[in-house]
Amino acid sequence: MLVAKFGGTSMGTADSIRKVAAVVKERGIETVVVSATSGTTDQLIKMGEIALAAGDWAQGIDALVQKHDEIIEELGLDLSLEEYYEDLRKLLAGIEMIGELSASARDRLMSFGERMSSEILAELLDYEQVNGFDVMFCDDSYGEGEVDFERTGEAVRERCEGKKVVITGFVGRSSAGNYITLGRGGSDYTGAIVAAVLGAEELQIWTDVDGVMNCDPRLVKEAKVLEEMSFGEASELAYFGAKVIHPKTIQPAIEQNIAVRILNTFNPAAVGTLIKDKEGDSLKSVTYKKGITIVNICSSKLLNARGFIARIFEVFARNEISVDVVATSEVSVSLTIDVDVPAAVVNELEEFSTVKVIEDLAIVCLVGDGIRESRGVLGKLFTALDDHNIKMVSLGASKRNITFLVEAEEAQEVTKKVFNTFF
Ligand code: ADP
Ligand code: ASP
Ligand code: MG
Repeated sequence: MLVAKFGGTSMGTADSIRKVAAVVKERGIETVVVSATSGTTDQLIKMGEIALAAGDWAQGIDALVQKHDEIIEELGLDLSLEEYYEDLRKLLAGIEMIGELSASARDRLMSFGERMSSEILAELLDYEQVNGFDVMFCDDSYGEGEVDFERTGEAVRERCEGKKVVITGFVGRSSAGNYITLGRGGSDYTGAIVAAVLGAEELQIWTDVDGVMNCDPRLVKEAKVLEEMSFGEASELAYFGAKVIHPKTIQPAIEQNIAVRILNTFNPAAVGTLIKDKEGDSLKSVTYKKGITIVNICSSKLLNARGFIARIFEVFARNEISVDVVATSEVSVSLTIDVDVPAAVVNELEEFSTVKVIEDLAIVCLVGDGIRESRGVLGKLFTALDDHNIKMVSLGASKRNITFLVEAEEAQEVTKKVFNTFF
């Protein structure tokens, strides 16, 4: 049994949706998870912002309606999305009227993309459409819903087992009973959850490249497809910027030992990348992620000051900010976060330390289980980056990734240099 997720890149046009349908039919896939049509989620977010500013959102709706209606017509489907369009107009009029766009209203707005695309694909395949709102039970963390696996498992099994279904990716129901989303790019995560609760043998993620590559192909055109990766390597890569898989996707797969395969809708004959529970022995890929901030926290009392690090992390945890990379010395702790530092956090830290914030940075990350065995990787790496100012370095306990920070504007150039050095 397998679950197949098709991304927005596979759902761009009537033509590409036909390709999706061909893959599903030829391979006899019965459980499909789908993203919104390409660009739709961004458009919805923009319309919400325009409505909030009492601007002309109607124009945006017209474009969205036209895009979906054209696809439906080109596919020759007997389907109307008029009810969705009407609800969308009501929601935007409401946002404009009260001059407020709450996190929950924003998630409801974003949910329309997947709800409409899944109707189209379900109609084309003659499958049942399943709304994540009815089966994906989450907490109330709008924009980044945490899934309750037990309730979700029961609901997914009841609605989907033994049936042919197209499930909306990205969309769920909050504990307050509202629409919620799972984070940008979160349809991959929906796919992983569905695969896990149905006990699938494989999760297939169908996208627009032949697999996971040793660098983002948009940055390096010589990038090559990797045949295999370990779960650990894929997690690090996803977490540090490789958009091809959403960072949360791998966890459910690890827990249930489900192989994940990345495949290309536009080149289905390619073997793709298989991500599985087997340690690798080489360097695999380099990735980067912008929008990073370093927080340097110094205490003259760190020496022998028990609980200093715990206190720092407690501040971040209480403010619900996740810390990515950490480096410590005798008297200081440097850590990175991928959001702006709230003033409250700085104030709290300053109660027991001095704080310096450096913004506009990027993480560059060299990934591969083989880092553990290879001698001289660090030497080679930093020699190649001789004329760049490296702000912070971390080689984690897993020795699966070497992570370092540079100015955001140098990220691409540095990533290319790392690629040229190792690949
Ligand atoms: P989808 O809509 O199918 O979810 P995404 O745009 O989210 O697709 O992810 C696919 C894109 O990820 C590719 O088109 C590619 O440009 C980008 N990408 C970034 N890093 C990598 C990498 N290491 N390997 C493959 N693709 C990558
Ligand atoms: N449509 C959502 C997004 O653009 C989810 C996804 O495509 O995976 O973020
Ligand atoms: Mg994606």
